[in-house]
Amino acid sequence: MGPSDTSAQRQAKWIKRFLRTYWLVIALHFAAQLWAFLFLSYPMGPHEFYYDVLLYPTLLMSAVVGLTQFVDAIAPKYSFVLLFVSGTIIAMMIIHLNMDIRIIGALMLLPIFASAIFFRLDLTLFTSALQAAAFFILYRWDYWFKYYLNDFDLIAVPLFLLVGTLVAGIIIINGRELASDLEATLTAKQNLMIENAVIRKLSTTDALTGLYNHISFHEFYEKALEYGNQGAPFHLALIDIDNFKRINDKYGHRTGDAVLARVAKVIKENISPADIASRYGGEEFAILFFEKSYEEAYELADRVRQQLSETLHEELENTAVTVSIGLKSYSEGATKEQLFEEVDELLYTAKKSGKNTTLTPLQQTRHLQSV
Ligand code: GH3
Ligand code: MG
Ligand code: MG
Repeated sequence: MGPSDTSAQRQAKWIKRFLRTYWLVIALHFAAQLWAFLFLSYPMGPHEFYYDVLLYPTLLMSAVVGLTQFVDAIAPKYSFVLLFVSGTIIAMMIIHLNMDIRIIGALMLLPIFASAIFFRLDLTLFTSALQAAAFFILYRWDYWFKYYLNDFDLIAVPLFLLVGTLVAGIIIINGRELASDLEATLTAKQNLMIENAVIRKLSTTDALTGLYNHISFHEFYEKALEYGNQGAPFHLALIDIDNFKRINDKYGHRTGDAVLARVAKVIKENISPADIASRYGGEEFAILFFEKSYEEAYELADRVRQQLSETLHEELENTAVTVSIGLKSYSEGATKEQLFEEVDELLYTAKKSGKNTTLTPLQQTRHLQSV
């Protein structure tokens, strides 16, 4: 039984198990009777035994179980009723054939307890009623049954059935409470997990752009430095939108927000899944490039810049916004502050040298040489 089974599937499996058990009971009963006849002194002639004890009862019980199996296959909604009717008939048959074993009447308790497996009070009450009817039928029409029953049994057996029903009922009600408690606990746990996930998302990301926020950036940055010191290279890029104040002044803050969100989208679309993009501040972004060479990181960073310079914004009368970028690889031994300040310095130089550029230490050297 897999954990993903629906309760209907579970019930269907249990019905099959019951049917298999019935066949087993019939076979065992057959074997036990035969064994008793062959090896114990049996108060019956062979002809009577083979027909009245072995053949006919076995055929009858098999027919009942076969019918139940057939009904289960074509109209499973009647399976339950038939399952317990046939269980009762088997019990009756065995009681009828073995009335000289006094405890055999206790067999009637078995269907009652078995019905409790399904946690349905109605089914258990139905099964108990069946046992009461079976008891009455045997008492009324089975001579030997009545013969072996004394006055005490006449009260004791129905009382046993009643107590059995009560116990089964208590098990069912308790089981149901347990199940609903368990379900409530599971639901509460699930809700908590969802809430946690939502809170985590809210606390780590920036609502406007969906990128990681300032705090998350620093967490990732610290991790990156740890890995960097173990020999895993990474690269830091700082991106600042050019002349953003003008956009706000000219088109308003709301339009500015929309543009910010679009810029973030372009950043996300152009980096690799291994990279971490965050909104570092107002119109500033930071990217941590992982698992790539300096050249690859540069290519991605400059692709962001290139892409943005070609992205026209409707709100801005179909003009583009540009960004300036500073980019540097981590070199072992550098502190968190050192690397960040160096990249910030590159960004500052990029701004001074005309904006809309990606500046790296190499280009900065060239730039300084050229002036
Ligand atoms: P530069 O090219 O030198 O970067 O010029 P700039 O105008 O982009 O730089 P500055 O730092 O002077 O201005 C940044 C502006 O970004 C100022 C602020 O109004 C705006 N800004 C910061 N955060 C937000 C935001 O969340 N929404 C909007 N609409 N504007 C923001
Ligand atoms: Mg700025
Ligand atoms: Mg700016």
